[in-house]
Amino acid sequence: HNHIDHATPEKVQAAIAAGDTHTKLPDYEDLAVYRAGGGYATLENLRAGGDWEAVQTQVLDAGLRGLGGAGFPSGKKWGFVRANDGPRYLAVNGDEGEPGTFKDRYYLERTPHLMLEGMLIAAWAVEAETCFIYMRDEYPAVLEILRREIAALEETGLINPGYIDLRRGAGAYICGEESAMIESIEGKRGLPRHRPPFVAQVGIFDRPTLVHNVETLHWVTRILREGGEVLSSVEKNGRKGLRSYSVSGRVANPGVHLLPAGSTIRDLIDACGGMAEGHSFKAYQPGGPSSGLLPASMDDIPLDFDTLQPHDTFIGSAAVVVLSDKDSARDAALNMLRFFEDESCGQCTPCRSGCEKAVKLMQADRWDQPLLKELCSVMQDASICGLGQAAPNPILLTMKHFPDEI
Ligand code: SF4
Repeated sequence: HNHIDHATPEKVQAAIAAGDTHTKLPDYEDLAVYRAGGGYATLENLRAGGDWEAVQTQVLDAGLRGLGGAGFPSGKKWGFVRANDGPRYLAVNGDEGEPGTFKDRYYLERTPHLMLEGMLIAAWAVEAETCFIYMRDEYPAVLEILRREIAALEETGLINPGYIDLRRGAGAYICGEESAMIESIEGKRGLPRHRPPFVAQVGIFDRPTLVHNVETLHWVTRILREGGEVLSSVEKNGRKGLRSYSVSGRVANPGVHLLPAGSTIRDLIDACGGMAEGHSFKAYQPGGPSSGLLPASMDDIPLDFDTLQPHDTFIGSAAVVVLSDKDSARDAALNMLRFFEDESCGQCTPCRSGCEKAVKLMQADRWDQPLLKELCSVMQDASICGLGQAAPNPILLTMKHFPDEI
């Protein structure tokens, strides 16, 4: 495939015209088809006289939580943002840089208007003056779809020209952190901010800002159209709702699987048609590299928000990577730390130097465990943002569960 480094509209158009398969637009539901199926009727009804608090209650009752990884109850954010005087902004976090995560891309390449309508509903709820969509540049097809569909929305009059401001990220993992994303939207280097104040109070250009992940907004639309039961009626292993798991690694059919939130790694492997031929299940990353690795023996844990905390890890954005007997847990952990070393924004010493030192220590024949533990505790306690705070997880979990390898 021709690699397009910077997906300017001109480059994407030229690549599509030249038949480039990487950039070729997938068949997706465009505005005309979406509207013919009843799309945007919910938004129009709400704009004609809806009660935002009733909508907020519906979203809360459905149990929708932030699906970018934080898991914060989505409706609550609306109240926090509205509590501050306008003008207010909305930002969609489409940076999706977590290794192993591809669910947002999956939805945007199929049903982009479910996200766009959800965004406009949330914008209506908080009376946002402008909606920013921060989309990673590595998704040229998604960017092109959004350009076309935003223009179509403007043509129909559902939004005023310029109401949705589509921004391209430039490949920095840290810009998926919401305050770094806001800095980037403002045109600055993506450095995470100290909190408080939270972005609901002081966000884009110091104005109250509602930040939602792509998939969260997809579900806002579905909850309002289909009823909250679409999520709340699904129960498994004591957990409610659905999760879009991005599953990759040594499975037969990697991909996005929408399954009950109480699913275990065994359920996910089954949904992927079992392990890849010649591989037996050894370990898994439950939620991005920051979540580290769990051994195959821990295969009965529901993979949901909260359920992994007792095991010192988390589900995050549900980026599940399956490892087999052909893989080394030690190498995988080192790979994760190399990634963090690369992607650390460099703003604070515990993370900038800590990731670098950790990589050096992990390259030794035998890990110096007391020294690594000391380093991990400094990184966890003193880093500014989640990258540095969670980077030690792969180290600590590998020491705990795979002692023979280190
Ligand atoms: Fe930057 Fe790392 Fe500090 Fe976060 S923890 S602000 S990524 S240096």
